[in-house]
Amino acid sequence: MIPRRKTVTAWVGTVPVGSDHPVMVQSMTNTDTANAEATAIQIAQLARAGSEVVRVTVNNKAAAAAIPDIVRRLADVGLSTPIVGDFHYNGHILLREFPETARLLAKYRINPGNVGAGQHHDKNFATMIEVAKEYAKPVRIGVNWGSLDQTVLARMMDENARSATPRSGTDVMIDAMIASALESAEYAESLGLGHDKILISAKVSSAPELWSVYRKLAALCDYPLHLGLTEAGMGMKGIVASSAALAPLLLEGIGDTIRVSLTPEPGAPRKLEVEVAQQILQSMGIRQFLPQVTACPGCGRTTSTFFQELAQKIQRYIGDSMPEWKLKYPGVEAMQVAVMGCVVNGPGESKHANIGISLPGTGEDPRAPVYQDGQLLTTLRGPRIAEDFQELLETYVERTYGRGEQVKS
Ligand code: SF4
Repeated sequence: MIPRRKTVTAWVGTVPVGSDHPVMVQSMTNTDTANAEATAIQIAQLARAGSEVVRVTVNNKAAAAAIPDIVRRLADVGLSTPIVGDFHYNGHILLREFPETARLLAKYRINPGNVGAGQHHDKNFATMIEVAKEYAKPVRIGVNWGSLDQTVLARMMDENARSATPRSGTDVMIDAMIASALESAEYAESLGLGHDKILISAKVSSAPELWSVYRKLAALCDYPLHLGLTEAGMGMKGIVASSAALAPLLLEGIGDTIRVSLTPEPGAPRKLEVEVAQQILQSMGIRQFLPQVTACPGCGRTTSTFFQELAQKIQRYIGDSMPEWKLKYPGVEAMQVAVMGCVVNGPGESKHANIGISLPGTGEDPRAPVYQDGQLLTTLRGPRIAEDFQELLETYVERTYGRGEQVKS
């Protein structure tokens, strides 16, 4: 286990966040929040994919007014996923004007760079904190380098300019983000908000800067930290950038909740960001969400597509079965399945898995040995190897996890 940085615990609805609890996965909708039906449908998709908390933008009165309807629609389908309201510019007005929304949201995200300028800044921020106190809600003080509090930045730039050894603009910006977050947290506490009602995030869009800002933040406070690379991008670039950015910090025990901010491909499901976040945590051995399928990359020994198709089929079968398996077979998420392309590494990898198959490589005997818990179980032959292996897998799951047995780690 990776030792975690010690934090207080903040409760986001029914979900505890902090070092005594698993690193939590969250996501955010991209529907118009005012469209309660579309937003509730997307929240349900994200929640069913494994998002333990879902954030929605509350950007205007129509969005604020829709929150009770959204919560009701989710309850109608048996979901009580905590919903976080993302407020910018007018949160102080909306939270006061829509008390039922303030009551139903599980957390308020406040960006200190977007609560108003000059004399309005502290007043608007204080209003949101008063509402949070009234409804006993936690807040995330979420600083973002694209909307950094200009007063704090200007102050620190001036100090730097007067310094005998001025630092780079990036270093000053990182320190300004940290100052904005921690000064806001201190102000919130001075207004009476509990120390355990504050979470912090300070997002940037470059991995090295994210490491720098979070390492400093982690050393300066014991608030739970929400970790994420902002504007990670699309597709493979966004996935790789987020993984590279989050992994070193998670390895150091920094990060109590994560989000992968992927720009979805047109028409792609929003839930991909949840699946990527889960895979990051699972690949690092931090949490288990679904059985791991180990598949070799294939090479010149696998010249047909049969091996790729089987690996894909098994992966999909496991993904589709998990909602039911999670309820019926406790511990199944720790199962390891190997689908290997030939006998070079196949039997060895299969023996290390709970259940594994080695397909015949090009020119090898048309037979596929299956290992279960380290022992040769059977050798499959003929045109139904894929179907037969799926049946063996299903039987293994029922037999092993149906009795609640402990599994190999
Ligand atoms: S297990 Fe066989 S098919 Fe897969 S990469 Fe290794 S040699 Fe190639």
